[in-house]
Amino acid sequence: MEKILLLAHLDESGSALPRAAREALAAALELSSALAAPLTVGLIGENVEAAANSMVGCGAKILATTGAELSQPRYATDSAAIEAICRKAEPTLVLAPATSRFARVMGGAAQLLGGHIDTHITALAAADGAPRATRWFYRQRVEAVLTRTARPWFLLLDPGTRAQWDGPVCTASVENVTVTLPPTRTQVTCIRAPKQDEQTIRPDAKLLFVAGAGWTKKQADGQVHVADAEQLILGFLKGSGASLGSSKSLVDQTGEGQTALPFMSHLNQVGQTGATPRHPKGLSTCCHGEEPHVVGWRFIGERRAVNLDANCGWARGKADVLYVADAFQVVKAVNELLATRGKP
Ligand SMILES: Cc1cc2nc3c(=O)[nH]c(=O)nc-3n(C[C@H](O)[C@H](O)[C@H](O)COP(=O)(O)OP(=O)(O)OC[C@H]3O[C@@H](n4cnc5c(N)ncnc54)[C@H](O)[C@@H]3O)c2cc1C
Repeated sequence: MEKILLLAHLDESGSALPRAAREALAAALELSSALAAPLTVGLIGENVEAAANSMVGCGAKILATTGAELSQPRYATDSAAIEAICRKAEPTLVLAPATSRFARVMGGAAQLLGGHIDTHITALAAADGAPRATRWFYRQRVEAVLTRTARPWFLLLDPGTRAQWDGPVCTASVENVTVTLPPTRTQVTCIRAPKQDEQTIRPDAKLLFVAGAGWTKKQADGQVHVADAEQLILGFLKGSGASLGSSKSLVDQTGEGQTALPFMSHLNQVGQTGATPRHPKGLSTCCHGEEPHVVGWRFIGERRAVNLDANCGWARGKADVLYVADAFQVVKAVNELLATRGKP
């Protein structure tokens, strides 16, 4: 019989579970019921009490490794904690959210425990009493369903692929797993990150706003209006809290020394050679390309586009709603609404 272990660490607040962990918990519970396999949760952090209390309703047994050293992501301490929990729980399947902290350490931990690992898992299922894991290959164009006989089988679950688990908060009974941590050299002294307003890539945003090269092209008056475009796009991001995506043509302009939007980088690019982010909604503006619409938007739930060209084939073919309009005027009007009504 399979035995499932879900691993989770705390978020930056040091007390709550990250959203990705709650999504992974939902997936683990479904798999546990489909396989009739017991589920154990293994928590890692300085003090896991609040996180454990918030997941009591799931009914799983809760193990924890705790200590001040585990408040910080660090390969040596995280892999020791994962190993200790796995040796205690003796799982055949180890599920974990693909947070940057776990993505860094889980491959090594699987190796340490003689297991196998698969990453970027987007769905789990059971067939004939065995687990099946789904992931995409070739820039999200080919979807494969994987099986393995090797155990323990580690599976890193991509965030944003399912609804998160939520339940009532009660006092949890947690079994502590002692771990001997190795001597550490790495200390996190502080975190330096751009302010929320400056950070344009926001994986948790409800909306992905995609800007295309049209923003920097000559407009009806024969002039380019890059300064207006910059102000409108940044105003929209600030007012709506959306994440910013871009077509390749627009981000390439920075490298080619053309008039470009300074806050755009290749990290914003969506598409075949860019990212395929997951958001409930998407709004594409001034964007014609096949790759952003077909591949970049693959995991966007509801898609809308603003384009001057009523015959823009990709916007017509791939968006649920196409507004044939001037994006400068549309975004200006939307920003005014956002200023008076506040964030949606
Ligand atoms: C191997 C390969 C990989 C690629 N990978 C990617 C990728 O990952 N991502 C990607 O994006 N591209 C990729 N491309 C490039 C892609 O094929 C397109 O060239 C690119 O996406 C076009 O960018 P765009 O739509 O922003 O610009 P354009 O094609 O120039 O379109 C601009 C659009 O803006 C509209 N417009 C202009 N002014 C306004 C206005 N005021 N209001 C509303 N609309 C307006 C125009 O009507 C036009 O439709 C790849 C190409 C190749 C060959």
